Amino acid sequence: MPDKPHPDADPSVGIVVVSHSRSLAQAAVSLATEMVRGRETRIAVAAGLDDTTFGTDAVQIRRAIERVDGPAGVVVLMDLGSAVLSAELAVDLLEDPTARDRVLLCPAALVEGLVVAVVAASGGADRHEVAAEAASALMGKQSHLLPEAGSPAQSAPAAGVDAVGIFTVTNLHGLHARPAARLVGEVRTMDAQVSLRNLTTGTGPVPASSLSKVATLGAQEGHQVEVAASGPQARWALEHVLALAARQFDEPQRGSVELGSPPASPTDRAGPLPASPGIGVGTVRIMRVAPVKIPDEAPGSAAVEWRRLREGVAATRRDVQRLRAAAARDVGEADAAIFDAHLMLLDDPDLLADVRSGIDAGQGAPTAWAAAVAAVERDVAGLADPYLRARAADVRAVGDQVLRAITGQPATGVAAEGILIARDLTPAAAAELDRDSVQGIVLAYGSPTSHAAILARSRGIPTVVGAGPEVLSIPEGTVMVVDGTSGDIIIDPSRTVLASYRDRGHQQSQRAAEQVAAAARHARSRDDVAVLVAANLGSVADAQAARGCGADAAGLVRTEFLFHGRTEAPGVDEQESEYRAIAEAMGGRRITLRTLDIGGDKPVPYLGMVAEANPFLGVRGIRLALDHPSLLHDQLVAACRVARETPVSVMFPMVSVVKELLSARAALDAAAADIGGMPAGLEVGIMVEVPAVALKIEAFLPHVDFLSIGTNDLTQYALAADRGNESVAALLDPLDPGLLHLVQHVCRAVRKRVPVAVCGEAAADELAIPLLLGLGVTELSVSPYAVPAIKSRVREVEISACQALARTALGMCDAEGVRGAVARWAGQGGVAASGAA
Ligand code: PEP
Ligand code: MG
Repeated sequence: MPDKPHPDADPSVGIVVVSHSRSLAQAAVSLATEMVRGRETRIAVAAGLDDTTFGTDAVQIRRAIERVDGPAGVVVLMDLGSAVLSAELAVDLLEDPTARDRVLLCPAALVEGLVVAVVAASGGADRHEVAAEAASALMGKQSHLLPEAGSPAQSAPAAGVDAVGIFTVTNLHGLHARPAARLVGEVRTMDAQVSLRNLTTGTGPVPASSLSKVATLGAQEGHQVEVAASGPQARWALEHVLALAARQFDEPQRGSVELGSPPASPTDRAGPLPASPGIGVGTVRIMRVAPVKIPDEAPGSAAVEWRRLREGVAATRRDVQRLRAAAARDVGEADAAIFDAHLMLLDDPDLLADVRSGIDAGQGAPTAWAAAVAAVERDVAGLADPYLRARAADVRAVGDQVLRAITGQPATGVAAEGILIARDLTPAAAAELDRDSVQGIVLAYGSPTSHAAILARSRGIPTVVGAGPEVLSIPEGTVMVVDGTSGDIIIDPSRTVLASYRDRGHQQSQRAAEQVAAAARHARSRDDVAVLVAANLGSVADAQAARGCGADAAGLVRTEFLFHGRTEAPGVDEQESEYRAIAEAMGGRRITLRTLDIGGDKPVPYLGMVAEANPFLGVRGIRLALDHPSLLHDQLVAACRVARETPVSVMFPMVSVVKELLSARAALDAAAADIGGMPAGLEVGIMVEVPAVALKIEAFLPHVDFLSIGTNDLTQYALAADRGNESVAALLDPLDPGLLHLVQHVCRAVRKRVPVAVCGEAAADELAIPLLLGLGVTELSVSPYAVPAIKSRVREVEISACQALARTALGMCDAEGVRGAVARWAGQGGVAASGAA
């Protein structure tokens, strides 16, 4: 039972603070009450799902409202996104209908608004005055920081628009669900109205706060998109969106997801398509998902139907959040992010507004929801780009999930063992499949780039998609072979065919299982040279995956993940606890913390960075860190604290001259002094990413314990080819002999005095590995799931043969020739090709 209000007990306005984070809400309350010390205030907090889990819960908010409700009413302040929806639902849920009229949901910024609201309420203001005061709480800050909206840099704004700019979409698949979700998520945190127009196709404008509308822009790679912003934070919002676009909305760089990529195939090709490699043999199990029915019933009042809808949306949100957390543990953060777009759709203000209009016009919640979702799905399905078009399946999946929640129709689960055949598969269903019982998947429809296919790949389930509706009539129990590498499906194969596929499948899975089983052991080449195989990490979840995949260490922790998507830098304590969590997840293996590697290409708003014409050649990496001494100091203190307990290396990125390294080391000494001295075992190294550094590496050697070659950047700088520019992608091959000479120079100069690692993508490239090892590289750092295969590759080669191969490659004229030579060499069992040049 909720705590009962004391309606007559207090004449002052009650305040409820709704936030995704309990500690944030409590701290905000402390800050606000500090202002009215000694004066009575009635505040209740409804924040977080528990002390540490982010989320908002309508029932908790309802109880908070009821606790502080009284004759003067209640003002509710919220943080972002679903906090607003949960608060609205909480008001609907209030048991006392008269209480609903006493509650005001205030659109103020949480912290500023709360401070002002508390002051006003304790001064006796009524609830309308409290809410109005809170809503204008940002004015002081605005007039200080934005004395007048100046002219935007990019182009003249139209009337009513404060800032306008243009970006070009550089994401491989355009502004599809994940980048769009990132964009929408950021825009929704700003006090600005932002709209987008696809200048290339003339589509739009659409509000940037609506995922469903952004999807309809059909913004493909190369399209130009205009951003128009208005409101108090218009300029900041514009800069932020342009910066996000410049870093591809934080999607993993192309080429960095080789293991997770679908087998090459044209997406729109007719007939079955390979979607997740491997061979599956088993008996057919058809997954028949009964279409969700819209019940034939008379709708209730608009209030009842709206409440029903919101409860269904809230229940679905909880399910998706649970699935997302499980997927992050199971397949990693990058693929789990698929579900962010689903969450975004559930909070989509435009979609909900359409549903609301339907309900207000007399429709029931299921009908209004189905109609609004169908409209979004139609828009997305009508897009020209096949990849974006495939996102219609996500819209449908989330739409059905909510409909099931509203109407109480359960989804069908698949428990039986065998080859799963279905019309299509939702990401939620794909994430829940049991890898041990599902030997393969065949989908009548779908595409290799669908989120279900991505999840099937991450989970290692052989999958073929687009097999046609005929597959749905294959009798249950029929024996079937699914070759997810070629796209072949063989129904009721002859004994000989079955035996040969079984054999191949067996060999493949045995090999994969052997690789995983052997991954815990250190890798040694055939001639017994030890090669450390480490993992590149960008989150604690990555560290958990890396440990499970047998990584010997964390060769690169991209600490940037802690600094993006927030309004101020993480403090020392927060960094310490994240780094410690990574070290713990790695089971005490050495972690290499790379200091912040951001720059003009990946701006962070709170660092006040200026836009640069050539950001990759500008203030990035160590240059930026040295320009922000306290930022670097905090990070190094956090690293030193963790290093007292567990092996830690500190690595400085984008170093160009020795002086930078010496300054960074001095900063490390100062940080260590703060915690009582340099922790024993803390090692210091640099990334070799600048060609000049590779060539003068001798000068750095007295000051480092290790080196790590960042082939991603080294390649772009050595070949003068922007790593984010698809038009020059063909040049960006780390097997270019020029690159190999740089690596050779580093290894020769080092003469085994310090370890030389490679942590760029080349370390996971099958053809590059023998060359790197032949040139003298001693460590490889790759994405977590690549570790077992890379260890196995190391075990197959003989370093002496690799050395001969590397000599041949160094004499060749281009990367193509080098790749051909290595492929021939590998085909001959790893014997150095002679005279291949
Ligand atoms: C590199 O440049 O190779 C590297 C590993 O760093 P990042 O990709 O994070 O720039
Ligand atoms: Mg780099």
